[in-house]
Amino acid sequence: MTDVDALASEIERVGFACTRCGDCCRGVGEDGSLVMVGRAEARRVAAAAGLPFAGAVVPFPGEIEVRGRACRLGWALARDGEGACRFHDGDRCAVYDARPWICRTYPFMLDGEELVASECPGLGTPIAEDDARTLAADLLARRAAEEDEAERVRCVVASAELPPDGMLVVDAEGVTRA
Ligand code: SF4
Repeated sequence: MTDVDALASEIERVGFACTRCGDCCRGVGEDGSLVMVGRAEARRVAAAAGLPFAGAVVPFPGEIEVRGRACRLGWALARDGEGACRFHDGDRCAVYDARPWICRTYPFMLDGEELVASECPGLGTPIAEDDARTLAADLLARRAAEEDEAERVRCVVASAELPPDGMLVVDAEGVTRA
């Protein structure tokens, strides 16, 4: 689905209003997964929080092999000891204006051309037309950003120098030691 109007109509049909339950930020529910972020997103979140890069994110779990070396692929927002996003502050997001695409578009995502939604108590609630259009535009911008990120990562994997040791993380800007 590449048309904002069509996507906005679909979002209106599903319905959504954030209840501010915070479950998505606290990793509650069957799909309470980590928030994967690219390096540029991570940098923005870290800057908004006044943290060093390494304080805002951790290497995303799971490994890929790059020329015989096990590497992590990208970053995830850091979590506290109970599994909540470290930027979840009471009932608010401490980095709201710099929050990543996944958070901006939650609970929706595009799976190919299909609109899909994660488990969320706000689903099924009427949504204003303007809000649906904003969400639709963000979903399309997120997809474009993710496609661009994936292409950059492919280039890095194909050509980047690998540091000789340490835990390596591949992202759109290169390969670094975590
Ligand atoms: S960055 Fe903000 S919106 Fe995203 S999971 Fe963390 S607290 Fe929630």
